[in-house]
Amino acid sequence: MEKRYTKSNLPEKTCAACRRPFAWRKKWARDWDNVKTCSERCKAELRRRTRKDEQQA
Ligand SMILES: [Zn+2]
Repeated sequence: MEKRYTKSNLPEKTCAACRRPFAWRKKWARDWDNVKTCSERCKAELRRRTRKDEQQA
């Protein structure tokens, strides 16, 4: 078990879909720069929203 990240020094981002802060997770270790949402659900929501915006533009 890795202990490199503790609760106090985890990087955080704001979810692009729900606007809530979320913390780094191990599953995102490789992909953290590309993570924009806190969950798969928000990811789908953001994608839906983006598609809608593109249609309107
Ligand atoms: Zn979210």
